[in-house]
This record gives sequence, structure tokens and C-alpha cells, in this order.
Amino acid sequence: MSKAVIPIDRWLPHEHIPWVIAGPCSAESAEQMLQTARGLVSCPHVKVFRAGIWKPRTRPNSFEGVGEVGLDWLAQVKAETGLPTATEVANTEHVELCLKHRVDIIWVGARTTVSPFAVQEIADAVRGVDIPVLVKNPINAELGLWLGAIERLHDAGVRKLAAIHRGFSTYVEMQFRNDPKWQIPIELKRLFPELPLICDPSHISGSRQLVEPVAQMALDIGIQGLMIESHIDPDRALSDARQQVTPADLCRMLERLRVRNAPISDRDVKQKISRLRAEISHIDAKIIQDLAERMRWVEEIGRLKRQHNIPVLQLERWENLLEKHLAKAKELGLDEDFIKSLFEIIHTQAIKRQL
Ligand code: PEP
Ligand code: MN
Repeated sequence: MSKAVIPIDRWLPHEHIPWVIAGPCSAESAEQMLQTARGLVSCPHVKVFRAGIWKPRTRPNSFEGVGEVGLDWLAQVKAETGLPTATEVANTEHVELCLKHRVDIIWVGARTTVSPFAVQEIADAVRGVDIPVLVKNPINAELGLWLGAIERLHDAGVRKLAAIHRGFSTYVEMQFRNDPKWQIPIELKRLFPELPLICDPSHISGSRQLVEPVAQMALDIGIQGLMIESHIDPDRALSDARQQVTPADLCRMLERLRVRNAPISDRDVKQKISRLRAEISHIDAKIIQDLAERMRWVEEIGRLKRQHNIPVLQLERWENLLEKHLAKAKELGLDEDFIKSLFEIIHTQAIKRQL
């Protein structure tokens, strides 16, 4: 997908990496907004103040945002601190109110990116308007929906465009609230290299202590922009209390993060990297060869099962194989979840080859 977008430093100038969009999950009161913003403005990395005005909550009877009055508070924050403002929109009315109250940047939330009707409505509402739009990934791990939303906005003429990676919801319990599945934002970057990519470690981690390590992972991958939730009194926040950090903690954290932004230029390092890449590519080629050979044996066993009327799925064999491979993985210091997922894919393919 080759689409023109305006480089981010032309519409969001920043001298520091990471550059950060920070502010509370939700606008709650004028005081809460102003106090948070006063804490954030002294932090050189923070370039934009965010706050949710309309909150799409998973369950009813939770705090659903203060609505239009919050836009006045955003304007007050901007008047006092000079920080540009950003909020989430989910329909035409939200867009129109943001334009009326001169919000600087809008974003499409994860629960809206999943709905092509809602995204199209927002795209139509910003057609011909010069306002940057950020698109969060959909809550489910589907790159197509994320790309589709970005395309709808681009087709409506939006050129100040960026994507926000906030992780993907999972049914299983895991360390993070939302699984980062880094391969998805990386694939988005491969398909649309010009599109700026921002990481939201707050919604990925879901807990205060994990915001920093996730932000560091994003930087280590090469992502330079972050959206982080910050509240003057996080424990009393009306939404996402567990993942919000105070402005002071956020500023200290941003100072601690290590930035990797050097190109591969040193000749010696370049050569070493090339040699290591050659080794890795050689192993990759071997893995593909071995997989091809494995599938040939699979087809042969498939023929035998067919001849003798034996069902393809042999649960006991699959369980034994998995158990053995996981033990081996552990012995070799490999991540067991990784090996499990890998063999689930291989096994699914093997079943397919026998049908
Ligand atoms: C938010 O940023 O507060 C929010 C609701 O995010 P998401 O759409 O990623 O859940
Ligand atoms: Mn939130």
C-alpha cells in the first residue's frame, strides 16, 4: 500500500525521542485536567495533551465520560499550557463538536476501528477538514480492519495520519491486559512504511508497573511516539485507574527510557551484522527445507491412514508430541508458549495435508 502522508515532524514538531501524547484516560473535572496538564507541560517529551470525553466502556453502568463540557476543559488546558489537545471520536457528532471546540488532534478508538460503518462516518465528517487523525488498532487481532480504517480516512483526504498500537484483547489470562502481538504493527509498518506508528503502552500493559517495560520494548523495536495515560491522582481515576501514572512518575520514566535511533553505519558493525544475518538466513532456509520434508512424510502417513480407514486426528500422538517438544524447548531455554504456538501451526498444516 503506497499512500502519501505528511511526515509527522511537519504537524507534530518534536525535539525529543520518544515524543509523547499524555493525559488522563478520561476527563473528569476541570481541576483534574488542569492539574494533570500542569504536571505534564514541564516534561519535555510531552507534546500533546490527551483526555477521553466520550468513553466507550465494555460494560454498562460504568463511567461513560463527561461529554461536551470536557471539550471546554481541553480548551482551558491548551490556553494555560500551550499543549495541543487530542480526544477520541466515535461518530459524526463527536467530530463536529471537536471541530467546534478546536480540538487539535482526534483519534479513532479500538472499539470503533472494528466497525467500518462508524469509521466511514468519521472519515466523511473530516473530509475537507485539516485535522490530524490517529487510528488505534481494532481490539481483535486483525490487520485488515486496521488497514481498512486507515484507508477510509486516507480516501477521505486525511494526510496527517498515524496509527496507534494498543494491543489486542485476549480471552486467556496473560501478563498484559492486551496482547501486544508485535508482528501486527510490524506488518502494518512493512505494508505502509510512511505511516507514523505510535505505541500506547498503557492499554497494552493495563498496570502501572508494566508501562515502562512496554514503552522500552516499543523504543527498542524502533517506535518513536508514545501515548501514555497520566492522571494527577491515578488511584481515584474514574476509568483505567490501575494503568495510569502521575505526571511526575511519567516524566521520570521518560527520562529513564533508552532510545535506539542509530543507523547501521560503522563498517565493522555493519560487517558483523551481515555475518550474523547470513547465519540466520541459512538456518531459516534449513527450517523451510525441513518443513517441506516433514510435510512429505505427513502426506505419506496420510495415505496410509486413508487406506486403512484410520482417522486423521490422532489425539494421543498429538499430545505426546507436544509434551516431548515442550520438554525439549525448556531444556534448550526456548519459550514454551512460542514452541507450543509454532507446533500448533505445524500440526494444523499437517492435518490439512492429510485431508
Ligand atoms: C483510551 O485511549 O482511553 C481508550 C479507550 O483506548 P482504546 O480505544 O485503545 O481502548
Ligand atoms: Mn483508557
